[in-house]
Amino acid sequence: MTCQSLFTKYSRMKLYHLMALTLLNALFISPLTAEINKAEKLATDTYSHEGDLKGKGHCNNGWIVFEDYVLVIDGNFPSGALEVIPKIRAVTDKPIRFAFDTHHHGDHAYGNQVWVENGATPVAHAGVLEEMKKYETGYFGGKPGRWEDTAKGRKDMAASKLKPPSLLYNKDMIFDDGKHRVELLHFGVAHTRGDGWAWLPKEGILFTGDACVNGPYNFMGDGDSGEWVKTLEAAKKLKPKIVCPGHGPRGGPELLEQQQAYFVELRKHVKKLARKKPEEVKAAVEDIKSALLKQEQIARYVGNSFSAQVEKIYTEMGGKPFLPAKASEDAHHQHAHAHGRP
Ligand SMILES: [Zn+2]
Repeated sequence: MTCQSLFTKYSRMKLYHLMALTLLNALFISPLTAEINKAEKLATDTYSHEGDLKGKGHCNNGWIVFEDYVLVIDGNFPSGALEVIPKIRAVTDKPIRFAFDTHHHGDHAYGNQVWVENGATPVAHAGVLEEMKKYETGYFGGKPGRWEDTAKGRKDMAASKLKPPSLLYNKDMIFDDGKHRVELLHFGVAHTRGDGWAWLPKEGILFTGDACVNGPYNFMGDGDSGEWVKTLEAAKKLKPKIVCPGHGPRGGPELLEQQQAYFVELRKHVKKLARKKPEEVKAAVEDIKSALLKQEQIARYVGNSFSAQVEKIYTEMGGKPFLPAKASEDAHHQHAHAHGRP
């Protein structure tokens, strides 16, 4: 390519970029970048909020102001809920009636009690309650479970309590006041067995929970990587214009594509080793890591719990764990750290 044509290509790209920004501004939609802890208006009565993940373990939130009430997306940790409530109050005085947990993890559901105290009912896919029964043994009358474990490191949880969602759906749940429509959906197993999605068909906005993240935040311990790929394929069929992930900045439809590509690539590498001994797979982790880091579209998904991700896929494919039992525990804690443990 000549210098001239490169320059022309560059100017054309820049022009398209400017045109797109002007168009977005004209539509009063903020561009696809976000600032942490700042409410961003995505469309009329529709907001997103990127949580402080590194500092406080908070997830991303969203909210939609209907004619008579507000629907909030994700319960967050108690401190995350308290961070977001004044920002909702800054744009509307309508009652907050529903808080939708995209899944059962603490950074998405442990703030439920705060929402209840503010007048809302926690809503989720039925699988969220099933997952809570499995992991929140303390609440359900057994030995201390995840809430008690996570509470050791969080002051905000000491001042609150677990409140599982009490309004559940199996296939979908629809909120529609004629002006706004939000569909709570479920496409199968992904990050967990109860992943819910919030879809705004009129605006083309999709809130994904941790079934899709934007950065090295995938915790795979409670999900299934093969099913996850299929579930993302189903979500892609919605053809969203804006994708609001569970963690990290929001983006366009490419986010679903890239999140899926990360698992497809990772599975491809592990599959080649599926019949090898655990030690051999363990020894190959660094090579797989560098192969993935070379791929621009998915490199940002490679993070600290990479070995645990390889191990998870290897065990899904019939292999035996190769990390000490404590390490997969650590992967969860690492996730919980990313998700708020000290
Ligand atoms: Zn999360």
